[in-house]
Parts: sequence; structure tokens; C-alpha cells
Amino acid sequence: MLTARTKTGKIICLGNEYKKETLLAFRNQEEFICPVCGEAVILKLGEQRIFHFAHKRGGSCLEFSEGETENHLKGKLQLYRWLVSQNIPAILEYYDREIAQRPDIMFKFQGQRYALEFQCSPIPERIFIKRTRTYRDNGYEPLWILSHQHLHFKKRNVLSLSNFHYLFLRTAKTGKFYLPSYCPDERLFHLADSIIPYSVKQAFVQHSIYPIEKLTLSSLLNPPTAFKKLWLPGWERELEKFKMQWSLHPRANTNHFLREIYSQNMNLFLLPAEIGLPVPHSLFIQTSAIVWQTYILLDVLKEKKPGDLLKLNEIRGKLNRRIARKNIMIRHLPQLDSVDYMVPVKEYLYVLERFGILLQQDIDSFQLLHTIIIPRSNREKEELRSAFYQKVMTFSQNNK
Ligand SMILES: [Zn+2]
Repeated sequence: MLTARTKTGKIICLGNEYKKETLLAFRNQEEFICPVCGEAVILKLGEQRIFHFAHKRGGSCLEFSEGETENHLKGKLQLYRWLVSQNIPAILEYYDREIAQRPDIMFKFQGQRYALEFQCSPIPERIFIKRTRTYRDNGYEPLWILSHQHLHFKKRNVLSLSNFHYLFLRTAKTGKFYLPSYCPDERLFHLADSIIPYSVKQAFVQHSIYPIEKLTLSSLLNPPTAFKKLWLPGWERELEKFKMQWSLHPRANTNHFLREIYSQNMNLFLLPAEIGLPVPHSLFIQTSAIVWQTYILLDVLKEKKPGDLLKLNEIRGKLNRRIARKNIMIRHLPQLDSVDYMVPVKEYLYVLERFGILLQQDIDSFQLLHTIIIPRSNREKEELRSAFYQKVMTFSQNNK
């Protein structure tokens, strides 16, 4: 930790740029105690790590028992100094006794209190959700920043994201979702936005990198980039690779899906081009777009003839049953105000409308214009696919 109290009650914050001689002198004169548990702590002024306070071995302080990594110490210190350099009132390791929580940094900005957490170690989802809720209930806006070492890019614009990573997703004032991370070694912020997952773990993202001194707090809270639309051929290519991986290494929780489509005389490689389409809010649903869009096809669209109506309520009812059976999983996004899986579902219906399959009748119903054809052979699939992409191209040209 970077903050301790002297026996006389003085706070020593290593976020201030003390000279080593000053700290050596302090250490000779003073005894330091932990502001949380009141136990004695030692001021470490070695060459290997940045200067910090440490509990004596065997200490019982809950707050620091897990041991702090260098990455965490460094990041916390840099982020604190970054805030101070923008004249933002900030307190390093502020301990709020009432809620018994200690954000890495507490700061005030535009009349709002923030609790900044620079998270280096994975914590259980329920702890993350509980802390977030406690902050919100007590007048803090949480600002969770993930340590960048946790993120792995498969490609420049393809990122592996676990459920833990998705917890960090937050909303800008514009309504855009983004995931902030920071690397203390390179002193870089990384923002991932326009996140569109194509499988449970992989997502297309727009990735922006900012040196810490080039990004203001205001821009971190409301990133300047616009939502980036996906390039459909790139998406389709990753989706095909994913299907291949999936068929080679099926997992227990998706076996059910594969069995079910086989029983309908379908298979993963002969799904129509209308299945697995990217929509902006698809990250609300943890289950791959291939799966939930197939369920819409099987449970609703396949039952209808051209001219029939489909009601949003009917779709919701069918999907609720899939969710109850865990065929579809909704993602936990504790920093977002609402996560309604019908948002991506409606976006999908609008995509189908654009491609002439549906026609919206009123706020909660669509009419089926054309049945989605399920290809029976690779040749038929290719023909249908090129006809579909022809429509996509015409559509995007008309929208330029
Ligand atoms: Zn302590």
C-alpha cells in the first residue's frame, strides 16, 4: 500500500513525490500504522520495487492480506498522479469506514464522487457486483480499470474476453459501451469499444491506445471515438473458423445445441447466411449469436408462413424458456443500468427487415415476408449465401 498514518495521526501518502532522503528520515523518526486495521506497517525503500508500506508478516489486515503486486502499486500511483496533474481532488487508498471499502483512489469530478479501482487480480463476479453496488448505493460512481496484462488480442481487432473482463464494461454519456484498461509499464490506456462477440470468448473490437499524458479524465469517462461498424466479410470469416473449432472441440454446454439442430436435419455448416449476424448489443447475450439466432429461427420463424405475424411477446416467451433451460445465457454487466436481451433481439429483427425477410407492422409485431431457406447442401448454401451478400452490398451502397 501507498498510504499510512504516523502515531501522531499524520497521513503519509507516497503519491506525493518525496525524495528518498526525506523518507529515510521519516522512517528513522516515526512509526507507521495501517489506516484500516491500525497495525504497524513497515516503509519499504528498496531498489527492486517502488516505495511502499507493508504489513508485518502474519498481520491480520483483511485489506492487504492478499499481498499487492508491483503492477498494482505502480498503476495506482500513476493513475493518482495523473488525476492530480489535472487538478482533480483525489485521495489515494481512501478508506470509507462506513461501507468498509477502500477504493484505490477516491476523487471528485464535476460534482460527482468516484471510486477508482485498478484491478490486477481476478476477483469473483459476486464480489465485483457487491462492491459496485455498495459504491453506487453510497454516492460513488465506480470506475473500474482493468490491468491491461489480462487482455489478449488474437488479432488487431479480435480480443479474447472472459466473463471477468466483461464486468469492466461501462457506458459513456453517448450510450456507447467500452472497456478501459491500463498498462503501468508502458504508461498506456487501452480502450476497447464497438465490442461484438462472435463466440462466448471472442469478440471484434475497436482498440484505441492513449499514452497516459495524452488522455484526460474527461475523455476516459467519455471516449471520443464513434461506434465502428463491422466489416461483414471479416466477421463471416471468423465465424466460419469458429464453427470449425466448435465442431472439432464441442463443449458439453453446447452439445445440446448441436444435437438439437441435427435432430432438425440441420448442421453447423449448413446454417443459412441470416444466422449469426452481428448486431450492436449482442454482447448482452453471452451465448453465441449463432445459437440464439438459430433458436429464433427454430422456435418462431420456422413455424410461420409468409404473411403471418410474429409478436415480440411471442419471441420473448420462447426465449425465456430457452434462458430458463440455460440454452441461452444472459451476460452479467453490473456497471450498465439495464441489460435487456430483447434489445439485441430487436436489432436482429430489424436486420432481417432490411434484408426483406420481415416487415415491421407496429411497435411490437412484424410480418413474415419470406421464409428463411435452410440449405440442404453446400452448393445450395453457397448460392443462397451469395444472393444474401448481394443484398448486403446493395444495402450498404444505398446507405452511403
Ligand atoms: Zn492493515
